[in-house]
Amino acid sequence: MTRILGGGELSAAIRADVTARAGGLRESGVQPKLAVVTATDDESTAWYVRSIAKAATRTGIECQIVDLGATAVQNDVLSALVELSADSDVHGIILQTPLPDGVDVTSLRTAITPDKDVDGANPLSLGRLLANQPAFAPATAAAVMALLDHHEVPLRGRLASVVGRSVVVGTPVAHLLVQRDATVTVCHHHTVDLAASTRNADVVVVAVGVPGLVTAEHVADGAIVVDVGTTATDDGTLLGDVDAASVEGRAGGLTPVPGGVGPVTTALLLANTVTAATTLSTTTHRDAGVLVGAVAR
Ligand code: NAP
Repeated sequence: MTRILGGGELSAAIRADVTARAGGLRESGVQPKLAVVTATDDESTAWYVRSIAKAATRTGIECQIVDLGATAVQNDVLSALVELSADSDVHGIILQTPLPDGVDVTSLRTAITPDKDVDGANPLSLGRLLANQPAFAPATAAAVMALLDHHEVPLRGRLASVVGRSVVVGTPVAHLLVQRDATVTVCHHHTVDLAASTRNADVVVVAVGVPGLVTAEHVADGAIVVDVGTTATDDGTLLGDVDAASVEGRAGGLTPVPGGVGPVTTALLLANTVTAATTLSTTTHRDAGVLVGAVAR
């Protein structure tokens, strides 16, 4: 029997805490505000951005969607990020991908001031995270760890395998697992025998974007499997990277898609926004190195 490791209860608890902290900030005259910069006509991205905005509003965080349109060029996005970074009414900034062809997301991420970098997108935030210094971790990576903790999955001394090594998910997850004393293998495109690399692991985190990539042959008996993948089909269904029917009965636990990592990620983006608002409103020292407020581990 495979336990379903849902994210609903945890995300609700985080959102309740955010609501209380946002209320406290408003009482002290600070309206927490999150800005989401988007430049695409991709409907599933638009849906995701609207869902962040709705969740923000419900917790008392103002959300500004800065929609630059699918014809935006590098400078349009850069200007928006520079302006929002300097705007004292804005406490959190998310740069949503995909961006139009020709727009270089890597260089743009450096334009998000680290004290408002609630999705840990700026390489400075990632560098601080890897150096075990306080920084906002990428929210999805933090959500994986929060879900494992919520479901009381032991990590110290355990073997973990992370499939995928992107800077937004796989790499930070691998580092956060190492921080928690797991022994970690990172797999990617060039991994010759993926199943051999994952089936000894106690914990398998899959962040690839290939529906159904991970099946029973990749999973040890009783292993915990975290499915980060979300691939939207034409009819709007979200597919994970794990073939849930195949691993059923073999895995000890599996996070569902949807309803696993996703809602926790959104809740943590809001939590980071409130943390950033708290830090920014209680200090006047605008040094990114000092201001970075939260949650590396
Ligand atoms: P990405 O940047 O495209 O990275 C995918 C990674 O998977 C790469 O490291 C790639 O290896 C590796 N990979 C691709 N095919 C593989 C294969 N056949 N075997 C082993 N490794 C393979 O994607 P991402 O941004 O990390 O996102 C991954 C998935 O998570 C996507 O489905 C995305 O939609 C989802 N996601 C979910 C959330 C959430 O909140 N639930 C948030 C963010 C992302 P190389 O490095 O060698 O190319």
